[in-house]
Formats: sequence, structure tokens, C-alpha cells
Amino acid sequence: MIRQHSTRQHSARHHSDRHPHLVRRWMLMSIVALVGLCALACSPQVERPDSVILFIGDGFGPSQMTFARNFLYGPGGGRLELESLPVTALVSTWSASNSVTDSGAGATAIASGFKADNRYVGMTADGEVAKSISEIAQEKGWKVGYVTSTTVTHATPAAFYAHVLNRYTDEDLIAEQLFDHQPDVILGGGKSSFLPESEGGGRQDGRNLLAEAKQAGYTVWERGQNLDEPAPSKLLGLFTNGHLYYTIDDRQYPEERRDPSLERLTQLALDSLSSKSKPFFLMVEGGRIDHGGHDFDAASVALQTQAFDKAVAAALKFQKQHPKTLILLTADHATGGLAAGDAIDWDGLKRQNASVSAMADRIRGSEEGAGMLNELTGYDDFTEQDADEVRQAIDGYTACRILGRKLAERTGVTWLPKIGNDTYGHTGEDVPLFAGGPGAERFQGILDNTDIPKILRQLLAWD
Ligand SMILES: [Zn+2]
Repeated sequence: MIRQHSTRQHSARHHSDRHPHLVRRWMLMSIVALVGLCALACSPQVERPDSVILFIGDGFGPSQMTFARNFLYGPGGGRLELESLPVTALVSTWSASNSVTDSGAGATAIASGFKADNRYVGMTADGEVAKSISEIAQEKGWKVGYVTSTTVTHATPAAFYAHVLNRYTDEDLIAEQLFDHQPDVILGGGKSSFLPESEGGGRQDGRNLLAEAKQAGYTVWERGQNLDEPAPSKLLGLFTNGHLYYTIDDRQYPEERRDPSLERLTQLALDSLSSKSKPFFLMVEGGRIDHGGHDFDAASVALQTQAFDKAVAAALKFQKQHPKTLILLTADHATGGLAAGDAIDWDGLKRQNASVSAMADRIRGSEEGAGMLNELTGYDDFTEQDADEVRQAIDGYTACRILGRKLAERTGVTWLPKIGNDTYGHTGEDVPLFAGGPGAERFQGILDNTDIPKILRQLLAWD
């Protein structure tokens, strides 16, 4: 009875009171819409990136940046592409064991948010596994990739996928852990750690990780591969046994015999990772700025920085087409104590036609001496005694540093005052950070290297 009454009442109202009913509904909907709009406009909006590209310049301190800019463009003559990223910060880099970090501890802090002892990779100072941002990204269904100009098992990329207590003795293990991690894209050097000795590699255990990678569904690309072919979605590209060549040495060869540039490898990784709709995390390391610093090779520092900067330019171009991409750029530490001085023979530096490392190797491996040095540096005052000092050095690294020092006496570049020191040539000043894209402003100010993955996790709501 009641129900009938109610139905009748409703039915009776249906025609006569139609408009007031609709007006009330519209008013309600308008209020909801207004509240929604206000929430959009009035409260801080969480803008989340759908992909993250993290650049790490190994040994890329503030002086390296200024020095490279002055070398390439002259003071006031231009800026690096990376300097166009709008948000900046300074990042402290001390490690758990030292005031000056090595690349292992530095990259571990950037990758995981944990301070580690020098030599550790992907481990906390207590020896626990330090889970990296890319390992979390994988759990969240993101694709992950690594690009470097060093071996792909070198400390910086390794800190994102490996967990070992000694980066120097555990390189074969790092290669296995890379394989276990199954990133979507890995591009760089270091084939030696993937092949057994019987096939020209350095592995003692007889495993052929390249063959295993193919079985696991990877396309393996090596030296001579046409990089213009469509980028496979699961790609392992190892283009040399060791590190990719220094730009200064590689440019002596015809184009077709050169190593792929960091820029080309970055484009390739972006093509591969963005081919599916999944979000992705990509780490790109400019790994040999550091090596130039260790060898007191200022021209190499500048040219490796330029190569790094071109890779950043490729990412900036990608970001224009994919505006939800967050680009971060920082360094693990600075190297060599390089000063951006005023009494530098820039023309002399630009004449240099081989890396300090390549010249030292030539002296140690042959009778070549002063003539070769004078030819490749453009100076005419190297003596056979200079060459002998390089030849008699106790190891290749010391030979480079002796030659680098001798070259610096001519170019006017200032480096660390001692050759032997307990920080391996690294220095501990704060390093720059640049950011651009959704959430970039959260990285502004004074940071510690461990803050970087923490802010990223907060931004992506992964905590
Ligand atoms: Zn280093």
C-alpha cells in the first residue's frame, strides 16, 4: 500500500515536477564539478613522470663542467645542453668509509639511498643488500635500461643491479647478477666478462653469458652492428671487450670503425624502451670523464663531457615529444682536483690528438718516445727522458699520471698536487644536479646523494 502510494506519487510528479528535480541534480553535479576543479587548481597537484632518465657523469664535478664549457665554447661563448635543465641542486657525496667516495659507494647512494663503504656496490655499509630504484621500478612493472661508455659491469651501472662487497674482484659475479636482473636494455662495453677464456673473454668458469642471454630472449648486438635497424625490445649491446674508446682516440678512425657514441646508444635505448606503452627507467653514464681526470688528461675530460652532453641533448629531444619524462643529471664525485684556471693553453689542448692513456700505452709497449709525444700533443719539447720516466712507471695507471702531469706542465692545467693519494684521485666537493620534467622541482636545493632515490620514490609513490 505504501509502495503503491509512493509509486503513484512519483509517477504523478514525473511530468508536473520534472524541472525542479533536474535543476537539483544539475546543481549537485555543478557543486561536485566545482569542488573537483578547485582541488585541481587550488591544491598542489602531484605531477608524476611516466618515465625517468637518470644521467650520471662519473667524475663530473663543478670544475669539470666549467672547464669543459670553456674548452668547447670559450668563457661566455656558450653553455652545455645539460645546463638548460631548469632545476638545479648541489649534492654532497661522502661515503660511509671516506670523506671522498669512490664510484661504487657513490653510485650505490644514488641508486638505493644507502651510504656504502668505498669498493661496495649495491650493499649498505652493514653489508646488507641495498635495493636500487631500478629494482623497485621492475617490481612496479617498469622497463629498465642501462647505457654506459665503460664496461656495463663497471661500478656505476652495477650499483643499480648488482650486490657485491668488492667491485674489483667480483666483476664476473657482477655480470652474472646483471643477467639475473634481466634489464630490458643494456648498452656499453665489457664483453670480456660475458665470455669464457676459450672464446676470447675473461671468465674463469667457462660460462658464455652471451649465448645464455640469447637463449633468454635477448637480441645481442656487437661491434659492426647496424644501429639503424629497429631497436629490439630486449637488447644486450656489448661493443668492446673493455670500455668504449675515448672520443679523442676514436675520432682518429674512419666513421664506420668507431665505437657507437653515448648519444647514439642513448637514442637506441630510448627507441627500445619507449616502443611499448610501459613506463621505463633509464640510467645513462658518461663513464670516462672520470678516467680523463685520473690520467690528468684535460682534453679527454672536456671531450668526454661533450659526448655526455650530446647524450643529454638526445634525451631533451625525447622529452619534447614525451613531456611526462623526468630527466635527472648528477655525478658520483669529481676527479683529479681539476681547477678551472686562467693560465691554460687552450689551443695546445685542442691540438692534442690522442688520450694520455693511449700515448702512455704506446711508450710502454714500444720504443716510441719523445717524437710520438711531440707529434700527438703538438708541443716540441718532450724529451727521451720524459718518455723513459713513463716507461719505467710501476704500472699503466701510474704511467698515465706521470705523462698527464708532464702534459699539464705544458698546457697550464692545474690538477691535484700529489700523484699518490688515498682517494684514488677523486675529490669530495659537492657535485651539481640538474632536473627537468614532471616533479623536477622536488630535487631543488642542497641535497645528499642518498636523497635522490628517496625523492624519486616519494614522487612515484613507491614508498
Ligand atoms: Zn674514478
